[in-house]
Amino acid sequence: MSSQVSIIKCASYNPVLVEVALRKAINAIGGITHYVKSQSKVLVKPNLLMAKPPECGIDTHPEVLRAVIRVLKDINCHIFVGDSPSVWGNEIENVDEVYRRSGITDVCGQEKVELVKFDKRRMRAKFPLTTWLDHCDYLISIPKFKTHELTLLTGAIKNLFGLVSGTFKTELHKNYFQLEDFSRILVDIYAEAKPALTIVDGIVAMEGDGPATSGKLRDLGILLVGDDCVALDSIMAKIMGVEPLDVLSTKEAARRGLGVADINDIKICGETLKGLNTRPFLLPCASRLQRRIPQPIIKLAKLLIKYYPHPVPKNCTRCTACIKICPGNCISMAKQGIVFNYRKCISCFCCQEACPAKAIRVKKSLFAKIIGL
Ligand code: SF4
Ligand code: SF4
Repeated sequence: MSSQVSIIKCASYNPVLVEVALRKAINAIGGITHYVKSQSKVLVKPNLLMAKPPECGIDTHPEVLRAVIRVLKDINCHIFVGDSPSVWGNEIENVDEVYRRSGITDVCGQEKVELVKFDKRRMRAKFPLTTWLDHCDYLISIPKFKTHELTLLTGAIKNLFGLVSGTFKTELHKNYFQLEDFSRILVDIYAEAKPALTIVDGIVAMEGDGPATSGKLRDLGILLVGDDCVALDSIMAKIMGVEPLDVLSTKEAARRGLGVADINDIKICGETLKGLNTRPFLLPCASRLQRRIPQPIIKLAKLLIKYYPHPVPKNCTRCTACIKICPGNCISMAKQGIVFNYRKCISCFCCQEACPAKAIRVKKSLFAKIIGL
């Protein structure tokens, strides 16, 4: 089995530059009709985490979405755009706010394509996925290239988690809170809803404590395109400076034969990895800790070395997004701000991901500090 991924440089979100780069990237791997039939119905899923403007670098940039829409319009597709952002919870009106602030509403309006909500679902395998998948012939995914406190990378496979409807995402975090289990769930979703094409917005990427307000923006200046999410995530891992199989969803997907993780078996079109000449990404705090623990003591240390969410009261706006999203009901609001019940906390960091105000940091346990991690 071999796969191909194209990597094309794009210096900014100037609409002309993005569209030219995207067309070049798709043509380098066979052209759009190699993946999507003309006149078909296509669900386009950007990565919309929260209601932040494009310059925050948290959500897929609207100009990348616009370029995708224009490529699909060339072959007369009927296009639907939608996502299930992390703030959804029971509050469907929040989705409108995410669409609006991220710039997605404007682009869909200007390009005259339907912006839809994932408010109807159908059980597929173990989870309720949006019925827009049934309604459309193809799925096109547009993840943002970001680090992730729990999964290390939020890329091609992880973006598909947003196909799960509403509060059930929180349920999955609760029921599969170990990283290994959660990674398996991500791969289950990938097996169930494989995109025809994935376009990674890596023009401005995120490093450090991603994927939300605590991460650091990183000008990477690239788009990556391919139909194999395993290969795409492997290439992204390499660019970040980590081994592809260190991302557990990549490892699991490769084990199941759902894609290619061996860089030597991936045909890279456009830029070479060497040519990109990027410095390694600053990794999320939690994964930095894990990496520095010698393997033989990992099991013993697991009991004592912990990382956990910690409030930053001066930044807290008391919006309660973290309380709504916490799968274990471990957060409450007190006079001084939010309070965590650490006995129930499973360190999933959904709260940090949902916080719009940099009011939740990751902290390490005393033992981790004592031994210098
Ligand atoms: S407090 Fe935060 S990290 Fe802990 S379980 Fe709740 S959402 Fe997850
Ligand atoms: S910590 Fe963040 S998400 Fe939670 S209430 Fe404060 S601002 Fe909102």
